[in-house]
Parts: sequence; C-alpha cells; structure tokens
Amino acid sequence: MSTLSATNRSRQKVLGYPVDVVDEARALEVIESAWENHRSLHIVTLNAEMVVAAQQDSELDRIIRHAHLIIPDGAGVVWAVRLSGEHIERLPGIELAAAALDHAARYDKRVALIGGKNAVLRKLVDDLPVRHKGLDIVAWHDGYFTADEAESIVDEIAQQDPDLVLIALGVPKQEYFIDRWAHLFPRAVLIGVGGSFDVWAGEIKRAPKIMRDLHLEWLYRLAVEPWRIKRMGVSLPNFGFQVLQDRLRGTSGKPKNSGRDGEKNGR
Ligand code: UDP
Repeated sequence: MSTLSATNRSRQKVLGYPVDVVDEARALEVIESAWENHRSLHIVTLNAEMVVAAQQDSELDRIIRHAHLIIPDGAGVVWAVRLSGEHIERLPGIELAAAALDHAARYDKRVALIGGKNAVLRKLVDDLPVRHKGLDIVAWHDGYFTADEAESIVDEIAQQDPDLVLIALGVPKQEYFIDRWAHLFPRAVLIGVGGSFDVWAGEIKRAPKIMRDLHLEWLYRLAVEPWRIKRMGVSLPNFGFQVLQDRLRGTSGKPKNSGRDGEKNGR
C-alpha cells in the first residue's frame, strides 16, 4: 500500500497551488492508509474556480495549501498541469467520493454526511446503503444551520466517531467548515464534495459522459445553471489567462497570492 509521502512525490503546482497527480485507485490507497494509521485526512477537490477564489481569499488559500491530498477535480487544473509537460488525468471529486463510500461499505467504516437540503439528505440516507451495499451512515445533518447551531451539530456527529465525513456546503463554505471542525474528527477522512449530494439524490444531473470525456463538464453546468455565469464567466478566463502568462514567462508554479508555503508534506 502506498503512503501519503509517496503521494506527495507526484505533486505538481498550478499557479502556485499544489495538485497531487493521483488516479482513483491511488487516492483510495491514501484513504485506506489514513484509516489503517488512524490519521485524519483532508481531501480538497481542486478546480480553476477554486484557485481563483483562493487567490482573493487568504483563508481559503491557507486551507488548500494545508490539505493532505489535493485532487485534480477540474478540467482547467488538468489543462494547466499538462501545459507544463506533466501527465495528469482528471479525478472528479464526485467520483472519488462515491468510490470512498464503496470502500467505507466494504471495510465497515462509519460514514457521516453534512450539507445539502434536508429532503436530499433524507433520500440519501435511504438510497446510499442500497447503492453501496452495507454502508453504515452513522450521522447526518443538512447544510442549513446558523453559526450558533454549528457547534452542537458537529459535536453530536463527532460523538458517532465517523471514519468518513462528506461535507457538501459548496466552496468555500465547506473548506471553512472542515478547517474549523477537523480537530473533532482526528481519525476521519474529510472531503468537501460541493453539489455531489444533489447529483446522488437525482436533483441535479451530471453532464453526459461524452461531455465529461471532452472535459466540458464545466460548460454543461453553465448551461443548466446559468446563474453560475457571474462567477465562472470571470474566474475561468482569469485562470486561463494567468496560466498562459505563466507559461510564456516560464514562471509556472509561482503563487500569485502572498507566497506563503504552508503545505503539508513529508507525511
Ligand atoms: N449548501 C448547503 N448549505 C449552504 C449552502 C449550500 O448545504 O448554506 C449546499 C447546497 O444545498 C448544495 C451544495 O451546498 O447541495 C453546493 O453545491 P454547488 O454545486 O453549488 O457547490 P460548488 O459549485 O461550490 O462545488
């Protein structure tokens, strides 16, 4: 079984942000390793929008850099790494999260779900143990609670001692949440999964496979959720422009933000 430090050997940078060159099998090995060694593992699913958001948000910047495993969720991130001559394949967060649920079911691990609408969660609590046979969902809570309510909600979930916690609050809320509460889950794998619960519950459809294969999932999301144009319409061209600028200047990998380098490595 590979170790976390082995994973770090294949770490690339995109506009200064770390990205681990891992496929699903490798990422699952890292998850298994965390479970075996009773260690916490924070997984970030990096995409272009998140990189641009982090450049303008020092909290998000710090949280991404401190994550243990940063997977290439977005087509933009994959494109940027490939442009620097390295080989990398996309690993969508939603697919890794589903595979992690399979693993949790297989290895009798305890799962908690946080985020999404109440009705979505109720559906998942019924459906997921059927889809991932034997899955043990020990705790769940929807994602609509106040800052004052958060502590007692998280305390209650932590008391159930989950091994895998999926947090679907959207970026950057889910990253702030993980940063704030990870200390209560010292032996759990924590993954921010964005809109995955909505997809699993059938509320939202993923792009057809052909679009996913062509790395056009972002375009599909834009088409079905046009309100995203405000955010994506600025951040995606901004990201592309910066990556090209970096390539032309030969400065790929240098951070635009403060230049802090607080990445966790050597684990
Ligand atoms: N959400 C939530 N609480 C909030 C805001 C959002 O639980 O206060 C959930 C929302 O129901 C949805 C997910 O977070 O399921 C956000 O999905 P989205 O696809 O917008 O995430 P992103 O694009 O940031 O990955």
